[in-house]
Amino acid sequence: MATIDGLPPLREVIATYDLVAKRQLGQNFLLDLNLTAKIARLAGDLAGSDVLEIGPGPGGLTRGLLVEGARRVVAVEKDPRCIAALQEISAAYPGRLDVVEGDAMQIDMAALLSPPVRIAANLPYNVGTELLIRWLTPKIWPPFWTSMTLMFQREVALRITAKPGDDHYGRLAILCQWRSDAKIVMHLPPEAFTPAPKVHSAVVHLTRLEAPRFAADAKTLQRVVAAAFGQRRKMLRSSLKPLGGDVEALLKAANIPPTARAEEIELERFCALARSVAERDA
Ligand code: SAM
Repeated sequence: MATIDGLPPLREVIATYDLVAKRQLGQNFLLDLNLTAKIARLAGDLAGSDVLEIGPGPGGLTRGLLVEGARRVVAVEKDPRCIAALQEISAAYPGRLDVVEGDAMQIDMAALLSPPVRIAANLPYNVGTELLIRWLTPKIWPPFWTSMTLMFQREVALRITAKPGDDHYGRLAILCQWRSDAKIVMHLPPEAFTPAPKVHSAVVHLTRLEAPRFAADAKTLQRVVAAAFGQRRKMLRSSLKPLGGDVEALLKAANIPPTARAEEIELERFCALARSVAERDA
C-alpha cells in the first residue's frame, strides 16, 4: 500500500526492526500516517521552524512533521531499537532529520536547535508532565521554544486547560496559562494507538506568551499555588498557613476573600497574591 511519503508502512517498519512495544518506555505507537500528518499540521508553521520531537519511536509523527514541511526535525529517542528505523527516514530527507539517541530528561535540547523552535511529540506518559513543567520553568523567559503540540492522557490535557471551578483546575493550569495560551486541539480514543492504552488521549497546543500574562515571581507563584491547592477544599485563610505571617492581610492585599477556596480563584488573583507575598518577604 502506498504511504504519504513513499517509505514503508509503519506496521512493516515495526516488523522489520522488531519494535515490539515496551510498556516501561510508555510505547503506544501511532501507525496511521494520515493522523500523524494531521497532528503535524496542528503544530503551526513548520516550514520556517526547527522541530524538537521527543520519543519518535518507529517514526510516525516524525514522518508527518517532515511531510508537512518542517525545516529540520531533531528527534530524541531513548530506545536504541528504534534508531535504525529512524535513520532510514533521515536518509530519505537529507539534512532535515537529526536522530539523537538518549534520554530527554538528561539532554540539553535547546543547544541542538536554531530558533524559531516548535516542540511536537506523542510523549511517553511517564515523563510527559515532568518535561512540560521543565519547558515552562526555564531560568529565563521567553524560553527556547515558540509553541508545543503535545499528546497527553486526556486527564492531563484537562488539567492543563482547566478554568476556575473545574474539577481539574490546579497547579498545572495555573503554570501553563500564566505563560502560554493552551488549548486542546484533538481528542483520540485508545484505539488510535498500538497497543491501545487504557486511557483516552488529547493533543494540547501551547503558544508561549512573550511575557507572563500577569506580573509575578515564578518561584513565589509556585509556592503560593502549591500551598493553596495542597488543601484545595479548605478556605484559603487556612490552606495558606504554610506561607507564614498574617495570611488574612496577604489575602486582603490581593483582593481575595479569606473564606474563598483555591479552586475558585482566577490566575490574575493568584499572581496578585504572589506579588503581596514577594513584597512582604522583600
Ligand atoms: N512518537 C511515536 C508515535 O507517535 O508512534 C512513539 C510515541 S510513544 C507514546 C513514546 C516514545 O518515547 C517511545 O518511542 C519511547 O521509547 C520514547 N521514550 C520513552 N522515554 C523516553 C525518554 N526519557 N527520552 C526519550 N524518549 C523516550
